[in-house]
Amino acid sequence: MATSVFRRILLKLSGEALMGEDDYGINRAMIDRIAVEIGDVSRLGVQIGVVIGGGNIFRGMTSAEDGMDRANADYMGMLATVMNGLALQEALRRAGLASRVQSALRIDQVVEPYVRGKALRYLEAGKVVVFVAGTGNPFFTTDTAAALRGMEMNVDIVLKATKVDGIYTDDPKTNPDAARYRSLSFDEAIGRNLRVMDATALTLCRDHKLSLNVFSIFKAGALRRIVLGEDEGTVVQA
Ligand code: UDP
Repeated sequence: MATSVFRRILLKLSGEALMGEDDYGINRAMIDRIAVEIGDVSRLGVQIGVVIGGGNIFRGMTSAEDGMDRANADYMGMLATVMNGLALQEALRRAGLASRVQSALRIDQVVEPYVRGKALRYLEAGKVVVFVAGTGNPFFTTDTAAALRGMEMNVDIVLKATKVDGIYTDDPKTNPDAARYRSLSFDEAIGRNLRVMDATALTLCRDHKLSLNVFSIFKAGALRRIVLGEDEGTVVQA
């Protein structure tokens, strides 16, 4: 029987991942596929926390550049992640998985607030916990929220789902000679400004020795392969 090399993981899903090939919003087929892939990993006995982004709906920084107050724009961005979290919970339900959504901002009629102890109990009971509203603070990103919740949940690794299957020496779309790194140190990732995750998130992971695996969510089965210890994407470690 297949055995996971991790007991508990934190999956960072960007808003973009939910768009699939669309330009905006949530693509039903895509979110259902992601839910099925999460299910495949959950059935291996892995405990799964998910931090979800909001860039498919609203990104604070973009609106701030257009003249909007940055903090307000960021609160809107955080609310966008709540919508995505509810959509993911629905998709997980359709895939036969029990989940809980916890929000860093209080909106009690909609989702329960983030309470660390409760989240840990849910994980231990095999429920997927979807963390929404990022860190609850403007001027941060959901990448940083992923590092933070990853540390709080004592996960073995943060799995960052992107559109590209890892970190490359150059842009693989424009340079056919670009090669994928199998592994990198945090200092290399930060120093080379590789834009795999924002620097705050990378620094947090580095300082707390929390490894990261960057992989493509568009590659079927990639998530499961990582959890089984196979070479997939790029591992960033201390
Ligand atoms: N955001 C924030 N604080 C946080 C997390 C997110 O203010 O702790 C806001 C910010 O405006 C961001 C938006 O929420 O642009 C959506 O999050 P993010 O850009 O990280 O989503 P992703 O790129 O992963 O889809």
